[in-house]
Amino acid sequence: MFELITSNLSSRARRGRLATTHGVIDTPAFIPVGTQGSVKAVSPRELRELKAQIILGNTYHLFVRPGINVIKHFGGLHRFMNWDGPILTDSGGYQVFSLAKLRRITEEGVHFQNHVDGTPAFISPEIAMEIQAALGSDIVMVLDECAPYPCEHEYAARSAEMTTRWAKRSKAANAQCSTLNAQRSTEKTELSAIGYPPSAIKRQLLFGIVQGATFDDLRKQSAQKIVEIGFDGYAIGGVSVGEPEEEMMGAVEASEPFLPNDKPRYAMGLGTPPQMLEMIARGIDMFDCVLPTRLARNGTAFTSTGTLNLKNAQFALDKGPIEQDCACPACREFTRGYIRHLIKAEEILGLRLITLHNLQFYLDLMKQARAEIEAGTFDEFRKNLISNYKTREVDLA
Ligand SMILES: [Zn+2]
Repeated sequence: MFELITSNLSSRARRGRLATTHGVIDTPAFIPVGTQGSVKAVSPRELRELKAQIILGNTYHLFVRPGINVIKHFGGLHRFMNWDGPILTDSGGYQVFSLAKLRRITEEGVHFQNHVDGTPAFISPEIAMEIQAALGSDIVMVLDECAPYPCEHEYAARSAEMTTRWAKRSKAANAQCSTLNAQRSTEKTELSAIGYPPSAIKRQLLFGIVQGATFDDLRKQSAQKIVEIGFDGYAIGGVSVGEPEEEMMGAVEASEPFLPNDKPRYAMGLGTPPQMLEMIARGIDMFDCVLPTRLARNGTAFTSTGTLNLKNAQFALDKGPIEQDCACPACREFTRGYIRHLIKAEEILGLRLITLHNLQFYLDLMKQARAEIEAGTFDEFRKNLISNYKTREVDLA
C-alpha cells in the first residue's frame, strides 16, 4: 500500500504514495491536526479546497468528549465530522501523559483522570485499538509511552522496552478488530486509478512507534524491535517534546537507518517549515503539527521567508496579500492591513483567514518538496528556503 516513487541521490528524501481505505496520500505529506474532530476554525469543505489529503484526530480528546459511544452512534469519525478523506488517529497515549491528571502507568496500561471533569479512565494497548476501530480511522497508532525530556538512560530504556511489548499487544488487538474493519462499507476511493483495487485496502493501517528518547543506542534497539514486529508504517515518537533541535535531528538520524525503505515514516508532532525540510532530507515522509493553526490564533502567518506577526503596526497600511502568489482565500481576497485590523479587533474572521493561509502554506511546502524530489533538486530547494527563512521567536510564543 506504500509505493516509493523517487528517492533523492543527494539526500535521503523520498517521494511516495500511501493508499488507505479513504484515499491516497502523496508523500512527503503534511497532516492538519483536528484535535477535537475539527481542524480549528476550518470546515472539511475548506480542507478539501486546500487539497489536504489527510487529517489527524486525537483519540484522547474524542474519548473524553464526546465519548466513543456518541461517535459510534454517528457511524464513525468520518461521518460524524463529514470528512470523507483519510484520517490518522494517535493512540491517545501522548495526551494521557501530557494532559491527564493522576496517571499511573502499569504493564497493563495507563490509569488516569481526564483533564475535563476528572473522571477516572484506563487505556491499554487493546483499548487503544478498540477505540480507534470504533472511530474508523484509516491509519491507527499503537499505544506507546512517550518518555519526557530530559530523562535518564535507565528510564528511557525501560520505557522503550515496555513500548515494544505494548506494540506487540497493539498489533494482536488490531488484528482482532480487523473483522470489524472488514465489515465497513466499501467507500468510493481513487485507489483503482493508481492500480489498487478498492477492495485491497479495507483494513486500517497500523503504525508502530520508535522511542528511545535522546539516546542513539536505545533509538537503534527500539527501531529494530518495532520493525521485527512488523507494521504498515513507522513513526518516530518522543521528538519535539522540548528537546533542542540538534537532539531532535539526532533522534531521527539514530532511528531512520533501521526502518525499512518500503514503508512510510512519520515524525510525530513536527514542526516548523525548516524542521520539516530537514526531516524530509533525513528520510521522513509524514508530519503533523499544530503550529499553522495554533499560531494563526495569535496573528502569526507563515511565509517562505519566515513568520510575520500581523498584529505589528508596520502592516496597518499594507495593501499586499499575506504572501505574493499564494492561492489561499485570504491572499486572493484580502490585504494584510485588513487582516491586521480583524486580528486587533478580535474578529473571528481574522484568525480563520490566517489559519487558511497557514494550512495552505504547509500543504504547498510539501507539494513543492514532492516536485523538487521528483526533479532531483530537493537539496538545493531545502538549503535556499532555510537560508532565507527567519524565525522570529516572538511570533512563535
Ligand atoms: Zn495565503
